[in-house]
Amino acid sequence: MSRPTIAHIQLDAFRYNYRVARQLHGGKALAVIKANAYGHGALACAQAIQDEADAFAVASLEEALQLRQADIKNPILLLEGFFDATELAEIVANNLWIVIHAEWQLAILLAAKLAKPVHIWLKLDSGMHRIGFLEQAYKQAYLELAGHANVASIIHMTHFANADVLSSTHTNQQISLFEQTVENLPAEEISFANSAAVLNWPQTYRNWSRPGIMLYGANPVAGNTVQLRPVMKLSSTLISIRTIQAGESVGYGGIFTANKPTTVGVVACGYADGYPRSTIGAPVLVAGHLTKLIGRVSMDMLCVDLTEIPNAQIGSPVELWGNTVQANDVAKCAGTIAYELFCNVKRVPFKYSDTERL
Ligand SMILES: *Cc1c(COP(=O)(O)O)cnc(C)c1O
Repeated sequence: MSRPTIAHIQLDAFRYNYRVARQLHGGKALAVIKANAYGHGALACAQAIQDEADAFAVASLEEALQLRQADIKNPILLLEGFFDATELAEIVANNLWIVIHAEWQLAILLAAKLAKPVHIWLKLDSGMHRIGFLEQAYKQAYLELAGHANVASIIHMTHFANADVLSSTHTNQQISLFEQTVENLPAEEISFANSAAVLNWPQTYRNWSRPGIMLYGANPVAGNTVQLRPVMKLSSTLISIRTIQAGESVGYGGIFTANKPTTVGVVACGYADGYPRSTIGAPVLVAGHLTKLIGRVSMDMLCVDLTEIPNAQIGSPVELWGNTVQANDVAKCAGTIAYELFCNVKRVPFKYSDTERL
């Protein structure tokens, strides 16, 4: 027997969520699989939807090449474009699409000698204030790119800062600034919506959506009722059980002290596996019963309250997050978001399943 901690990746759920995203929005959907598909395994996720995905999006040339080398033929967008001029030849050779978000990229692209023109996603900073051109610079950049020998086509894009907040006026402000800016700049297509916008803001629907987190089954909009299927199930088992008395504490720092006799179970999963050390009191499923994390998460283990689960025993299955325990709920108890939980899973074996394609 080896250590029982496993990240189980349910590819049929990933495919289901992609279809939900695409249908809700109605246009084409760029499946965002950057950062190794938010920790789920980029190649396996890409392969699960390559027959139907309109395109993929990643953060770097290296991430794109991993897909191309495995024979993924769909269009792939580099969300930050290139990081220096030396990447351009490979971008062209591998048929990648690029975001252009800054003056320095524009200068390099316009001066380059390319074997073939490239498809450009020109990024407007409509209020996120992270990357992208401001309005005047955007118009100027567009005019320099349009018709240039290195440019095959231009898609207008922008990114929302607050699409997960229903009551925010910021998204509408970003849309109007975008509409004003591109008014006289014909582009073949437009792309606005990340997952939160797909779920929450029909006003943002244009030709292309760019769903990420929703594909992995975590709904980024609190209170949103669109049903998604969790893709990752992080599971382990109980490796130790003891009963402590009132007044006794559990684990490093003794941050949990029992006020009555308490049965404590130890689970073989810790922060070295990606379960955040900052988590306090998160839900945990043990032998089919919901209970709670108690005490501080340590490197290889964490503790749960078994007092109300008398049938729990050594080897009982534990779900840290997955089909019953929502990653969003654990993230809240850790002061973070499900995105970060998924990206941080490491050391554990990944097991892939696909009930539709056995
Ligand atoms: C990561 C990213 C997305 C996906 O965002 P989610 O919130 O995961 O849906 C979309 N667009 C851009 C530009 C991104 O960088």
